[in-house]
Amino acid sequence: MKHILTLVVMLLFFSCSSEKEKKQPTFGIVIHGGAGTILKENMSDEMEKAYIEKLTEAITLGHAILKSGGTSQDAVEKTIHVMENSPLFNSGKGAVLTENESIALDASFMDGKTLNSGAIAGVKHIKNPISAAIKVMHNSPHVLLSGAGADRFAVEQNLDTVPESYFITARRLRDLKSVQQLETDKKLILNSSEHLYFKNQRYGTVGCVALDLNGNLAAGTSTGGMTNKKWGRIGDAPIIGAGTYANNLSCGVSATGWGEFFIRSVVAHDIAALVEYKKLSVKEASKQVLQKVEDLGGDGGVVVMDTHGNVAMEFNTPGMYRAHMNSEGKLNVRIYGDN
Ligand code: ASP
Repeated sequence: MKHILTLVVMLLFFSCSSEKEKKQPTFGIVIHGGAGTILKENMSDEMEKAYIEKLTEAITLGHAILKSGGTSQDAVEKTIHVMENSPLFNSGKGAVLTENESIALDASFMDGKTLNSGAIAGVKHIKNPISAAIKVMHNSPHVLLSGAGADRFAVEQNLDTVPESYFITARRLRDLKSVQQLETDKKLILNSSEHLYFKNQRYGTVGCVALDLNGNLAAGTSTGGMTNKKWGRIGDAPIIGAGTYANNLSCGVSATGWGEFFIRSVVAHDIAALVEYKKLSVKEASKQVLQKVEDLGGDGGVVVMDTHGNVAMEFNTPGMYRAHMNSEGKLNVRIYGDN
């Protein structure tokens, strides 16, 4: 009898302490700066350092917001601003160019607690597209605004607007010329069978998923799309469920890669669904969905975080600019696939 009592007391003690452990508030943040043909042998030390520094600056800012009790929305927005304002990434300043040397920016944001979301596509003057996506979510009855109307909405919302020339860099003009040259040389027809043509384009979209101390997830993605895009093409980044998704019942996701395949595979929502319904880990769910993308012929990557702060940074390209910081402030910044 005495033994049984001791056992019951011990069981109660352990179950209470593990309950306490589970309920410990945690927070975390994970970001990407695009996936693609990013190889060590093609990267100068100087560029590598610049990417690592910028990723570190962005994630450290978001982490500080979360640590001081800020919301996941604020952390995602401010972290993405750092990358949108840097010419290194394909978002905001430094975005890739359309076939006629112009700019068409896409972004989206989703709140994991309410499932509210906002997005903009094909804008030319909004300095920080992620902020416009957030404004669409809060201050309009819509989810997705596009083109000149979305630019006008940003002005009405008092967001910073800039001339198109602000976004255009010499590097992206060079990228455009070389992609157009490739197209002429190879007489490529833009259809889905021209895999190499698309695979050789360097991606550079930015995205962030954050979990705040209240247990709320948020995710955001911002991009210039793909070099030499035509006909008002829009990728996955502003499509809720494809490029971005967040749900406190499962996880937050931000994607980067060959948008057409990410839309067709509904990547971000598919990952969240596997986590919610099949109870897969964020890593296993991401692997499975990226495999589906690959089987269709597409490539790219995702960053994912669940409400316990578990994280996945998965990709099927040679590299992905990425970083993660947990509640202890442990930083993990990476670029290539093999380190
Ligand atoms: N997913 C983006 C698009 O297709 C491109 C990228 O992530 O680099 O527009």
